[in-house]
Amino acid sequence: MKDQLPEVQLRAERWSPEETLKWAFSTFQGEVAMASGFGAEGMVLIDMASRLQRDFRVFTLDTEFLFPETYDLIDRVERRYGIKIERVYSALTPEEQEQQFGAELWKQNPDQCCKLRKVDPLRTKLAELRAWITAIRRDQTSSRATARKVEWDSKFQRIKINPIAAWTAEMVWAYIRKHKVPYNPLHDRNYPSIGCTHCTRAIRPGEDARAGRWSGFSKNECGLHVVDPPPASPLVQIRTSFNCEP
Ligand code: SF4
Repeated sequence: MKDQLPEVQLRAERWSPEETLKWAFSTFQGEVAMASGFGAEGMVLIDMASRLQRDFRVFTLDTEFLFPETYDLIDRVERRYGIKIERVYSALTPEEQEQQFGAELWKQNPDQCCKLRKVDPLRTKLAELRAWITAIRRDQTSSRATARKVEWDSKFQRIKINPIAAWTAEMVWAYIRKHKVPYNPLHDRNYPSIGCTHCTRAIRPGEDARAGRWSGFSKNECGLHVVDPPPASPLVQIRTSFNCEP
């Protein structure tokens, strides 16, 4: 499949989200699953998938720090669409994380916390899949701006499918209204982007849609959709460790 990717990518740019999902399901069958945090975009994809076939796989990275509204929405999704959400947990319980890394790691080192509770569990989950489907949109963050509808995910060494990469927030909400798709009630309380309770706040008028995530840090991604930078050359590493900037 990786060899055919350039040709598939060209065709995929003309596909609708539904056509992209259809291609993903027919190509990878039971070895593709949708990753969902049950935001507005994720709900659109779940609803679209349910119109294409009865059974499809959805997993969520349950950090054990999600909002009660999110857990409630997961239960509603299972009932409405007749699917079982696959819950993926960190290898460490919150208590074990505190013992090993200290209290409130999300305040001291959110990258480490996201690695333990999201990135590492995703890597483990993707080991059982050939491809994964995400609900990212190009206009959400700078690191998502170049996302293709079908691409090779070099970080996780899997095919990554982004059916609504070209959609805007307005298109997402138009779909939700048209099809009466259930959504997280926090969206109506100025939470356009919803993650863990510790790292999500409501946005204020005029703020960017993702300003409520990791507020106070420069971080705006949990690391799932960011390619790791190449390791620094030995020379750079030596210079950094001795802090010998000219
Ligand atoms: S979003 Fe915050 S609490 Fe959740 S895993 Fe990342 S740093 Fe930890």
